[in-house]
Amino acid sequence: MMEPAGRVVFDASPGWVKIAFYSLAATAILVFAVGTWLRAKNFLKARKVGRSDHLLRRIARAIPKVTLARSRIWRNDRFAGLAHDLLLWGFLVLLLGTLILTVDEDFSKPLLGVSFLRGTTYLVYSFVLDLAGISLVIGLAMMLYRRARRTAPRLSYSEQDRAKGVSFGRLILDDRLFLFLLLLAGIAGFAVEGVRIFRDGTSFPEEWSPVGVALASMIRATGITEEGASALYMGLWWLHALGALALIAYIPFSKAFHALAGFGSLVFSDERAGRRLESPASAEPSGFRRTSDFTWVQLMHLDACVRCGRCHDVCPAQTSGLPLSPRGLILQLRSFLAGSGGNGGTPVVGNAIEAEAIWSCATCLACMEACPLQIEHLPLIVEMRRYLVARGEMDKGLQGALTSLGRYGNSFRKSVRDRAKWTRHVSFKIKDATQEPVEYLWFVGDYASLDARCQEMTARTAEVFSRVALDFGILGEGERNAGNDVRRVGEEGLFEGLRDGNVELMRACKFQGIVTTDPHSYNTLKNEYPALNGGRVLHYTELLDELLQSGRLRFSKKLPYRVTYHDPCYLGRYNGVYEAPRGLLRAMGVELLEMPRNRSLSFCCGAGGGRVWMEEAERRGERPAELRVREAARLEGVDTLVVACPKDYVMFTDAVKAVGLEGSLQIRDIIELVEEAL
Ligand code: SF4
Ligand code: SF4
Repeated sequence: MMEPAGRVVFDASPGWVKIAFYSLAATAILVFAVGTWLRAKNFLKARKVGRSDHLLRRIARAIPKVTLARSRIWRNDRFAGLAHDLLLWGFLVLLLGTLILTVDEDFSKPLLGVSFLRGTTYLVYSFVLDLAGISLVIGLAMMLYRRARRTAPRLSYSEQDRAKGVSFGRLILDDRLFLFLLLLAGIAGFAVEGVRIFRDGTSFPEEWSPVGVALASMIRATGITEEGASALYMGLWWLHALGALALIAYIPFSKAFHALAGFGSLVFSDERAGRRLESPASAEPSGFRRTSDFTWVQLMHLDACVRCGRCHDVCPAQTSGLPLSPRGLILQLRSFLAGSGGNGGTPVVGNAIEAEAIWSCATCLACMEACPLQIEHLPLIVEMRRYLVARGEMDKGLQGALTSLGRYGNSFRKSVRDRAKWTRHVSFKIKDATQEPVEYLWFVGDYASLDARCQEMTARTAEVFSRVALDFGILGEGERNAGNDVRRVGEEGLFEGLRDGNVELMRACKFQGIVTTDPHSYNTLKNEYPALNGGRVLHYTELLDELLQSGRLRFSKKLPYRVTYHDPCYLGRYNGVYEAPRGLLRAMGVELLEMPRNRSLSFCCGAGGGRVWMEEAERRGERPAELRVREAARLEGVDTLVVACPKDYVMFTDAVKAVGLEGSLQIRDIIELVEEAL
């Protein structure tokens, strides 16, 4: 009777082969365990952070996040997405197959005397593993091809990535070595199968092992003898085994560690990171001197980075030639911790990372949105800014703005009495919400209140609110800067003072919701202020869209414009408001063309995170706002860039002049169009 199909692992090999293999396997596992411990033991020294609650729920939530991570890899780069998927799924299936084989060979057979990898089960097993092997080899070949041909510029390192003590050569070697070892193990695995089938034949139909059978035919065509095939089999078997064991041992020391740290990063990441900053751990900001200055989640993030460059690619600071790369930041921190810096002494900022890089960030969150592993760059940057601010190390522009904010509650060096002067341009008297109840408390914000270029728009907003019979009022002279950008430049004490002053005033008012025209204020009011009166905070586009849906806002005419719309970072990426402004535009009948970078991919104007207060830095490229208006102007037939943020209005109006697009592109706040369509 014919033997059912099955796998013989050590067949006629001499006894020493088995002993040598198991010794090497034990060594590889030991090296893996020690290497993993060396990396993970730092987590024990790190600062505590409350991210380990509801662990099972977090793990369950991380599984769909893998899908999110994949979608970020696929986004704008299908080649990378396909290569990564082929590699990932091929690798996971092969890993599972190896575990099943180990259980069968080392536990079931010796302990129970039975093999479950027999007959039909083995046929299916063999077929699935062949497919997984093909998937892995193709995925790896695609990745190596793109690195060798440099088809993705983001994979190349730039000066902004440079970390002290790390040579790009070493990074490039690590990038390629793991892929190469994996490819070697994969190809050698197929070759072993092919020689084995040539030597022994199959006891089952050939279609169950298509690759092995095809390779066996090729080997047969070479005319190799049976003895030669046996020797070749042994050589290839060792190559495959050593390649696989070397990979296991190498994982903790290579970027492949992201397979572990990356999943941890997804499990412990915070959905509101950056949107709601944590208060400093101590009164004296550390500037990251030693391992214990980082939280264990931050250390895990540093370990998770695969240097894919997606964050680098989308960063407006990097794009406009400022000395910051979010990938470089992660590499610099990682290399600092790996070196002597991790033991204390010098702070990372000013030594491993230059202060100019830290100040270059516009806090746009594009890096965090792009990162497939949900690494949180922004809180790291803010922590280093806190250190610089505490030491008074900042440029004069920022210093002046912070002094003015402390003295007057605004960055314009204007008296508190100037704050409500814009109301003189309004045709009716706006209610003082500190004196009488209103349905909506309008938090106007600094730019909308005090910048001469924005005041007209602010007055128009009031007129529109009035025309839709909105019951609203303002805080008038009592309002202070909401503190969103103050917090993000690292001046926590001033932020708290501004927030507490505003909250005290607002607590004394009677209202049902807060509306604001400023996305920066919107973010901090919504995410960082205590929830007042139910915590309903709306951007004016959201409020108008609600009124539109309820029929309270009706447009009386269609506007014959062809426009594009810029998603402000603090409205879109920070708070997910994408559809309300678009809904308004559609209802007004305008033709809306999207820029290539829209919604969560929107490109920052460069004003956020206090950049607007800083002196103009030396840069190698055009400013982010200039790049953005050029992007808008490239759309066919579009002559209007619609904005929904006072800072965007100012930045883009200046940028249009700077790049000579006056006459072909106009910047309009969405409220102007609403007013016109009414
Ligand atoms: S937040 Fe924006 S500017 Fe800052 S590092 Fe990230 S992408 Fe660059
Ligand atoms: S931080 Fe994230 S996006 Fe940036 S290089 Fe690392 S893994 Fe890629």
